Amino acid sequence: MPDLTPTPDFPGLRITKPSSYAPGSADYACACGQSGHATGDTAIRALRNEYDTHRQNHAMERGAR
Ligand SMILES: [Zn+2]
Repeated sequence: MPDLTPTPDFPGLRITKPSSYAPGSADYACACGQSGHATGDTAIRALRNEYDTHRQNHAMERGAR
């Protein structure tokens, strides 16, 4: 299986769930260098929110002035 973990050079959010019985895990990386990791459905949802909010902050920074 290729390693598709996001990096600042290849930013994004990746969620993996090996089976419906095993807890999934998620990684994200932003082009600015921030990254995060979560394990478990609840933590993954929080990580997705964190990543969405983080990207929105970038969009606001760019659009503010
Ligand atoms: Zn960022």
